[in-house]
Amino acid sequence: MIAAIETAPVAPPVSKPAARVGRTKEELLATVSASRLGTWLGCRLKFYFRYMLGIQKPNTPARHIGSVVHAVLQQWSLARWRGAPLVGEMVDAVFDEAWTAVNEDDEIKWDEDEPEAKAKAGALGLVQMYLRETPIPVDERPEAVEVMVEKDLSAHGLPKLVGVIDLVRANGRIVDFKTTGKTPNDELTLHTNDVQLSAYSLLYREATDRSETALELHHLVKLKTPKLVITEAPPATEIQTTRFMRLVESYVRGVQGNDYVPAPSFACASCEFINECKSWK
Ligand code: SF4
Repeated sequence: MIAAIETAPVAPPVSKPAARVGRTKEELLATVSASRLGTWLGCRLKFYFRYMLGIQKPNTPARHIGSVVHAVLQQWSLARWRGAPLVGEMVDAVFDEAWTAVNEDDEIKWDEDEPEAKAKAGALGLVQMYLRETPIPVDERPEAVEVMVEKDLSAHGLPKLVGVIDLVRANGRIVDFKTTGKTPNDELTLHTNDVQLSAYSLLYREATDRSETALELHHLVKLKTPKLVITEAPPATEIQTTRFMRLVESYVRGVQGNDYVPAPSFACASCEFINECKSWK
């Protein structure tokens, strides 16, 4: 059991994420995370390029904006945890710091129709919209912020499940922040995020010995007029947990067997490894 979720949040100040490096098969079989499993399920060859070879690609405007918004909301949650909420110009200052600090070494190719200054103003507008419209009261002290949790699945012959939960609200509601350019559909988004939500549920229960009260996806939708869409799910069911375990079993079999085949789909349009993929034989 991990006590951190009930004591102090684990989060650094706004900083550059650690560089991704390749992993051995043994490392990939020692632990598994929801994001790694999600990549595996989407396309095994993409997983191979990203996690086994550790190929790094230049950051994109969309990823930069997502990282900055995430970093600011992390600081906003931490400030509430400390009992000194971020308000007004303090938010702008944290945002400015995050914009500079996140991936500061990356040469981002900004779009001609959305140069950096415009993208930055849009990202700040997204954060300000969230802070205006969020259902989380400014004086609500979180149960946990950006907390690293793990669950030993060795009794099932599976890797250790690891993950970082964005936020657990005071009432045991697990929250994950997402930035998107499209308004999500509730039913579809719950389906496509099922792996992540099931993983968070397992991790939270392991850390606290109790069930979450709900799972919330807070989508910050980047439109001309940005909006907040919250998709809420009840606590994960036994069926979801079983499905999740079956997926991890499939992951283990695939990695053990070096089963890294491509899965061409509409998702290839946004795949950063499309050139490497074309050379695959
Ligand atoms: S381009 Fe498509 S098939 Fe190829 S690695 Fe990327 S997601 Fe997989």
